[in-house]
Amino acid sequence: MRQVCFGIDVGGTTVKMGLVAQDGELLEKQEFVSAHDVEEMFDNIAVHMSEVMSHFPDCQCVGAGIGVPGPVVDQRLVRGCANLGWGEVDVAAELGRTGLPVRAANDANLAAMGEMWQGAGRGCRDLVLLTVGTGLGGGLISGGRMITGFNGGGGEVGHIPSSFHPDWQCGCGKYGCLEATASASGIIRAARQFAPFNEMKRVTAKDVFDAARDGDENARQVITDAGHAVGHCAAILACVINPEIILIGGGVSAAGRPLMDPIEEVFRKEAFGPSSHIRIARAMLGNDAGIFGGAALFFCE
Ligand SMILES: [Zn+2]
Repeated sequence: MRQVCFGIDVGGTTVKMGLVAQDGELLEKQEFVSAHDVEEMFDNIAVHMSEVMSHFPDCQCVGAGIGVPGPVVDQRLVRGCANLGWGEVDVAAELGRTGLPVRAANDANLAAMGEMWQGAGRGCRDLVLLTVGTGLGGGLISGGRMITGFNGGGGEVGHIPSSFHPDWQCGCGKYGCLEATASASGIIRAARQFAPFNEMKRVTAKDVFDAARDGDENARQVITDAGHAVGHCAAILACVINPEIILIGGGVSAAGRPLMDPIEEVFRKEAFGPSSHIRIARAMLGNDAGIFGGAALFFCE
């Protein structure tokens, strides 16, 4: 009987769910709107799970790996998810109604597991993922295991203090985090100091990248600074876990070389000897990284 596992990525607006086989094949994928109420959320997930399983009567489901946007302890307890309005939730107990073994993790850490198992970090056991999007998240894998730390706050790469804008407040409440500088929000904020962005009603990170491509020096500098900030933090992380590969994911990374080049430039300059020549690459699973990561909690041990 073919063994399969659910990978579930619970976000503030949608839930992405996939049934993944042990060989990494994604058999079916579903996406539905997140419910505000915890009970309703897990009812919906359970209903979708049994519907998906009914399409694969010849498969044996070994569990469900679920990612949530908050710190997770003991692979089950989430202490709170601001963008879901959750307090403390025992995810494994809530999803226990399905009768399956449940393992929970922080969504960004889980994406790193997914990239290690079936993405750009395949075959690596030591890996750093930096996801540059609206926010800046990621995960650290050491010896094939997620670094989650003492109380679930491990791998929060976006909140490493960065010296570029020490007085800019981050979403976490502290000042000067990498996220405040190098996320799409940080890039937009930096660009807004200059014309023409200071007069535009709405600025996107893409506007800044487009202007840089068209020769706007300020826009170029903003992106270079963001890349340098990411590269600097990557060099710090490399000193800690000596990864085999550093992956850059998230919507902003789609910009390609204009972001990747300054990241790599600073990393090569600053990273400690044994780490200075490791690979730096784009993540490849995109929005499916969490689904594969959830399955990896069961299939990639
Ligand atoms: Zn922060």
